[in-house]
Amino acid sequence: MDIKDHIRAIPDFPKKGILFYDISTLLSHPDAWQVAMGRMAKIVGQHRPDILVGIESRGFLVAAPLALKLGCGFVMARKRGKLPGKTVEHEYDLEYGTDAIALQDDALAPGQRVVVLDDLLATGGTLNATIELCKKVGGNVVGAAGIIELTFLNGRSRIDVPFDSLISYD
Ligand code: 5GP
Repeated sequence: MDIKDHIRAIPDFPKKGILFYDISTLLSHPDAWQVAMGRMAKIVGQHRPDILVGIESRGFLVAAPLALKLGCGFVMARKRGKLPGKTVEHEYDLEYGTDAIALQDDALAPGQRVVVLDDLLATGGTLNATIELCKKVGGNVVGAAGIIELTFLNGRSRIDVPFDSLISYD
């Protein structure tokens, strides 16, 4: 099965000139989603993770089912201000301004084997910031993965752990 057949490209979203790869049609197709998660489980399982960190919000949709499949835990990396209790943040630069990603301070046990997941790698800023944050709270980040990679943006060059994707656009 070609996973690309189930991904829609929507022009001018969220702003003019951006071609947005929409995974809604993959999620709503039971066979295609099953196949995609099966393939992701093989890739991610090779890292022998203890815990999967999903990046808000579409990364949750990838990490939560994979955690169940692989028998490991799932942790949410969220935008600043969304998580209760004590949190640790990592700021990163956007095209205009900055943003911050947060974890609960006890989300990862020291030395735990962590794989960070998102739906899509574009410039790599979000994933790189999340990996740095996981390291800050003591995680041993052994890999990262996403369903889609936009190779022309070369986000992979910003990721200092092994990164895998199911499909790419160039
Ligand atoms: P980056 O930080 O790598 O530039 O952007 C990746 C983040 O933006 C991911 O969290 C991803 O969900 C979101 N994103 C950027 N472009 C797209 C896109 O075309 N499709 C989807 N589904 N997400 C995108």
